[in-house]
Amino acid sequence: MAPDPTTSPSTHASQGARAENVFVGESEMAQRCREFDWASTSLGPVEQWSNSLRTIVSTLLMSRNPMFLWWGPDLVQIYNDAYRPSFGGGGRHPRALGARGKEFWTDIWEAIGPQIETVMTGQGATWHEDQHLPIERNGRMEDVWWTYGYSPVRDDDGSIGGTLVVCQETTQRILSELKMRSLLGELSVAKTRLADVFRLAPSFLAVIAGPDLVFELVNDAYYQLVGHRDIVGKPLLEALPEIRGQGYEAIVRNVIATATPFVGRALRVTLARTPGAPLEERFVDLIYQPLLDGEGNARGIVAHGTDVTEQVTAQRDVERLLAESELARADAEAARAEAEAANRAKSDFLAVMSHELRTPLNAIGGYVQLLEMGIRGPVTEQQQADLTRIQTSQRHLLGLINEVLNYAKLETGSVRYDLADVPVHVALEAAEELVAPQAQSRGITLTVGDCPRERCVRADREKLRQILVNLLSNAVKFTDRGGRIDLLCEQHDDAVAPTVTISVRDTGIGIAPEKLDTIFEPFVQVRSDLTRTAEGTGLGLAISRDLAEGMGGTLEVESEKGVGSTFRLTLPMAGR
Ligand code: ADP
Repeated sequence: MAPDPTTSPSTHASQGARAENVFVGESEMAQRCREFDWASTSLGPVEQWSNSLRTIVSTLLMSRNPMFLWWGPDLVQIYNDAYRPSFGGGGRHPRALGARGKEFWTDIWEAIGPQIETVMTGQGATWHEDQHLPIERNGRMEDVWWTYGYSPVRDDDGSIGGTLVVCQETTQRILSELKMRSLLGELSVAKTRLADVFRLAPSFLAVIAGPDLVFELVNDAYYQLVGHRDIVGKPLLEALPEIRGQGYEAIVRNVIATATPFVGRALRVTLARTPGAPLEERFVDLIYQPLLDGEGNARGIVAHGTDVTEQVTAQRDVERLLAESELARADAEAARAEAEAANRAKSDFLAVMSHELRTPLNAIGGYVQLLEMGIRGPVTEQQQADLTRIQTSQRHLLGLINEVLNYAKLETGSVRYDLADVPVHVALEAAEELVAPQAQSRGITLTVGDCPRERCVRADREKLRQILVNLLSNAVKFTDRGGRIDLLCEQHDDAVAPTVTISVRDTGIGIAPEKLDTIFEPFVQVRSDLTRTAEGTGLGLAISRDLAEGMGGTLEVESEKGVGSTFRLTLPMAGR
C-alpha cells in the first residue's frame, strides 16, 4: 500500500514540492505551470526541484512585476502573467513555457545569450535600460524596448542555478519619446519657416506689446519703412519719435483696450526714411490685430500692412491729369464753339452779301441783253463792244460770287455728297472736254493719259467734275502758250484701302516752295503776277481740297517754280 502523502512525515519535503504548492494561485501562468509536464524538461518533476527553484518560481508567479526565469544548464523558461503581454498575440505564449532559452529566443539570442552567460558564470548581475530588442511578435518583427536586469539566482548548494529577469517593457514610452522628438523637430522647422516668412514677407509686420508698447518683432519690410533704425526692444514713441501726435499710438492703445482689430486704408504717416533725414510723407494700408494672451486679453498688437505711397501718388497724378484734361477739353470745346459761331457768322455774311450782289448783277446782265438785242434802239459798234465788256465783267463777277457762296456752304458743312462708283476715264474725259477750248485758245496741248475703263472711284460725280475743272482751269491759267497739260490716272493697290490718284500736270509757271501750303487756304493767291490774280478768287483750291476730303480723299501739290506743277487728287477706289 502506498504511503499516504498527506500524513507520512517522510514525504514532508515532497509534499511541499507538490505542484499546487509551488504554482500557487489562480493566475493563468500558475495554472499552466501546474498542468505542464516538467518531467519532460531537464528540470525534472516538480517534486525533485530544489528549494531555491521552488521559492523563486512561486515568488515569480505571485509577482505583478513582469518576471522571467531561465533555470538549469538548458535555461528552461518560466514566466509570470505580468510578463505574458510582451509576447503579443503571435503564438509565442504559451510556447515559451518550459522551452529552452537558446532554442526559443533564436531572434535575439545573439544579444541576450552573452548577457545570460555573464550571469550564469558568476560575473554578476546586469542592468539594461531601454534596450532595443526587436522581437517577433504578433506575426512580425516589432521594435521593442526593455529596461531589465538579469540577476543570478543561487541554488540550494550556493551555485548559480538560474537567471532571473525582472523587466519592464518601455516600448510605449520610447515610442512616445521618439514621436515627441520628431514633433519637436518638426515644430522647430515650422518655427524657422514661420520666422522666415515673417521676416521676408513683402508687407511689413511688427509685434508691439506691453503697457509701454514695446517693439518685440519687426520684419525687413518694416525696417525698410522706418529707415532701418534700431527699434526692437524700444517703446513705440521712443523708437519712432516723429509719429507722436499722428494718432497711431492712440489707435494701438485702443486696439489693445478693446481687443478689436483696426483696419486703415491709405493712411498718411510722416517718417524719417533714413536716419536723420527730413520727414517724408508716406501712405500705408494697415491692420492692427490684437495679440491675445491665454485668457483672451490683448497684450499687444500685430501690425501688418503695405506701403502704398506709389499707388496713392499715382492715383493723385491720375486725378490731377483727369482734372487738367477736363479743363483742357472744356477750353477746346469753348474754342470750338467760338470758332463755329465765328464761322457761321462769316458764312451768313457771305451768303447774304452774295445774294445781295447777285440780284443787281443779274439785273445788269438782263439789261445788257436788252440793249444788245436793240430793243431800246439801235446800238453802234462801239456801244456793242462796250456791252460785250460789261457782259464779260458781269459774268466774271457772277462766277466769283457763286464760288464764294459755294465755299460758304462747304464751311457750314451743309454740302451733301452723293457717293457712287464713278469710272475714272469718264470723269477725266468730261473735264477735259470742258477745258479743251480754253487750252486750245491759249495754244496749250491738253492730253488724257491711259486709264482702264473698269477703274472706278467712290465719289460724288458732280463734285469730282468740279475739282477736276478747277485744277485744269488753273493749269491753263498758269501755263504759258506752247505749254502742255497732262491728265493722268494711277491705281494704288493698298491691301486695306486701295485708292486712285488723278494728276493734273502742267508745264506752267510753278509755285514757290514757301507758297505750296498756303495756296489751299481760302482767298490766297500767289501775288507774283498781279495781272493773273484778277482772274480768280483764291477760293478754287480751298473748295477743291474741302470737296476731296469730304469724299474721303486728299488733294496735294508738287511744284517747281518755272518748271510746272502737279496737283494730285487721291480718292478711294470703288468696289472690291
Ligand atoms: P484762283 O481762283 O486764284 O485760281 P485757287 O485757289 O484756285 O484760286 O488758286 C490759288 C493760287 O494758287 C492761285 O492764285 C495761283 O497763284 C496758285 N496756283 C493754282 N494752281 C496753279 C498752277 N497750276 N500753277 C501755278 N500756280 C497755281
